[in-house]
Amino acid sequence: MMQGQCLSLKTIESSNMNPLPLPYAHQWIDEHDIQAVVSVLRSDWLTTGPKVEEFEQAFAGYVGARHAVAVSSGTAALHTAMFALGIGHGDEVIVPPITFVATANAVVFQGGTPVFADVEAGTLLMDPQQVQEKITSRTKAIIAVDYAGQSCDYDALHSIAKEHGLALMADACHSLGGQYKGRKVGTLADLTVFSFHPVKHITTGEGGMIATDDPELAERMRTFRNHGIDMDHTSRMKQGTWQYEMMELGYNYRITDFQCALGLSQLNKLTSFVQRRREIAEMYDRAFASIKGINPLHTPPEVMNSYHLYVIRVNDRDQLFGQLREKGIGVNVHYFPVHLQPYYQKTFETREGLCPVAENAYNHILSLPMFPQMNDNDIERVVTVIEEILN
Ligand SMILES: *Cc1c(COP(=O)(O)O)cnc(C)c1O
Repeated sequence: MMQGQCLSLKTIESSNMNPLPLPYAHQWIDEHDIQAVVSVLRSDWLTTGPKVEEFEQAFAGYVGARHAVAVSSGTAALHTAMFALGIGHGDEVIVPPITFVATANAVVFQGGTPVFADVEAGTLLMDPQQVQEKITSRTKAIIAVDYAGQSCDYDALHSIAKEHGLALMADACHSLGGQYKGRKVGTLADLTVFSFHPVKHITTGEGGMIATDDPELAERMRTFRNHGIDMDHTSRMKQGTWQYEMMELGYNYRITDFQCALGLSQLNKLTSFVQRRREIAEMYDRAFASIKGINPLHTPPEVMNSYHLYVIRVNDRDQLFGQLREKGIGVNVHYFPVHLQPYYQKTFETREGLCPVAENAYNHILSLPMFPQMNDNDIERVVTVIEEILN
């Protein structure tokens, strides 16, 4: 389940000459990115400086949201969003089981209880019908996870949220640059969370962002990422005062200026990164259409998938996983259902049988290499090796 980084760029560049290991994901850092970071290192501001706001504004502009708040990781972003929504002890938040553990953990950080709603078999996205059935008088919010890069059914989720007075949050760590019914990811929920871990669409090393149209939520999040203090160092300097007030219990979830400089530089390439991811997916789709036994996830027509992952379903997943790994193809499995993690079983008494669709899917899913720097030969190599194994 580790989202590890695997290999150096050099390995990838030579991969079409030698059958060297191919990772399932990899960042793409160029000279411009490096220069952007270096120039901040030479400046006066390493953190809480101008690059943070610049990155936030550029990012908000890209996704079409009024506000964006940058933090130190996607996990910090999820926690910050839970705080902003006022999630606390005894509150229930509905989450899907097919996601990274951090989605559910963020509810627990605030003393809440994650309630798992099963996914749809074709997409492995949260099933609105299942969400509806999990609502109780304690339910406060829904976290939709755009698994693999495609948006959940936000129209359905919105109407459920509205009917029951719930907040709707999107964990869009997989779907930056995607769309739903022509609307951009980042505008589809009350709060939308992103990650800039190296395996994601753009990277800041570690980093995260929350997009929202609500100025009050944005303000609460800015305070939370800075210990719950209502003023940061810059504004104290401007106002000529040493005084500050801690209004709430917050954390140090700040991101540095050199990370934000990298984020800004990466953001310039996001559109082309997503374009290449979609091309790679199309090549996989075409190849697997004629290979029996390989069943990619279904993408609904109203969704523009930005493909964080390319997920197939196969009968004997464990065998295919082992053989591909042996041949140097960096496949992975996303995810072991969160409600079956020992911590959740122990703490919340979640058991096998709670989310049968997710549990069954878990036995068959496999994530193939997917990152923009993959070349056509890399893709062909993955397909050819799979064909050889299946025959
Ligand atoms: C990556 C990821 C996270 C956590 O992001 P980090 O930046 O690694 O903390 C949360 N949710 C999902 C779905 C993710 O893929």
